Amino acid sequence: MVYLDYNASTPVDQRILPALMDAQGAFANAASSHHAAGQAAVELVEEARERVATLLRRSPQDIIFTSGATEAAMLGLVGAALGTPGRPNLVVGATEHKAVINAAQLGARLAGGEVRTVRVDRDGLVDIDHLADLVDDSVSLVAVMAANNETGVISPIEKISPIVRRHGALMFVDATQLIGKGEITDEITDTDLIVCSSHKIYGPKGAGALIVNRHVQKNLVPILAGGGQERGLRGGTHNTPSIVGFGLAAELVVKEQRSDMARLEELANKVLGMLGTELDGIELNGAGANRLSNTLNLRFVGADAEAVMASMPHVHVSAGSACQSAVTTPSHVLTAMGRSETEASESVRISLGRPTTTQEVQVAAQAICTAVTRVRELTD
Ligand code: PLP
Repeated sequence: MVYLDYNASTPVDQRILPALMDAQGAFANAASSHHAAGQAAVELVEEARERVATLLRRSPQDIIFTSGATEAAMLGLVGAALGTPGRPNLVVGATEHKAVINAAQLGARLAGGEVRTVRVDRDGLVDIDHLADLVDDSVSLVAVMAANNETGVISPIEKISPIVRRHGALMFVDATQLIGKGEITDEITDTDLIVCSSHKIYGPKGAGALIVNRHVQKNLVPILAGGGQERGLRGGTHNTPSIVGFGLAAELVVKEQRSDMARLEELANKVLGMLGTELDGIELNGAGANRLSNTLNLRFVGADAEAVMASMPHVHVSAGSACQSAVTTPSHVLTAMGRSETEASESVRISLGRPTTTQEVQVAAQAICTAVTRVRELTD
């Protein structure tokens, strides 16, 4: 089996497993206990908070732990829509993850406003002029992702933030896919709200964060008010082991991101080279934009992606975004980029990860060539 679907989820890095197992022993409630067992859990959560803060170059007080990026997006988007009176509208990029799009829909509905969707070009880059047209003083927040989960296309946040700020709106960046795979620029760390997720960076599932400064925190309405944990913004007993693992995974990203990125770029180029030598009719979606080096979204002209995947069951890639695979609608990301239903249905996402080896990419590239050729022959 060759797993090349790391944008969907990553395995826990073996190096953090022992600490993760030990943290299972810190079962006491980190929020409400004044005894030593509770304090031990508090210390673990606070160490993790510092590690995540270091990764994002922010204050630990800015880190609000959640169960993942979906929940962080709900808190950021719904919380800001409800917490900004007189600004009921939200602006989102057309290729945002459904976690962001659906949270924005809910936030706008609850605030009595609307969601305005920003067009993207054929490479998946936000149309800056359209964005400028959509942002006005009725908008509480603008959400544009740092990097796209399907195509790896990286957004120019440095061009977008000034427009958002000019209108006094909040800038929200979904950095779930960028972290560990792309450069976290100062423009990204400076934004008002950032979301990220542990299971995309070789940490355990069940942890993520909303990064938001104290000033903006005051204007967020909590979605899970609960017992007032996480500065009153996310109630509920802490998932201490997952948070510990998230912190350690973040620390590894800080140490290893540069070398990981260089290695993945080399491997992705190898895949592209091998496919290009053996097959014609390949299109790289997002080719004209800056992209995450680990992600290749390839259209094999005339070969249905589901059929390609079915004829190479030992190679795990995905057609469209993983979160949509159960539904057979074409990817909203590719259709927003102007691809037809057929073009989208012939597109495969290959995403490499930290464990990927040269041998694996060779096996996968060979399998893809064979599968695409077979599907094309059967379709002719
Ligand atoms: N945002 C992006 C860009 C993603 O790729 C994902 C997961 O696929 C999410 C948000 C949701 O993350 P989580 O699984 O932590 O809720």
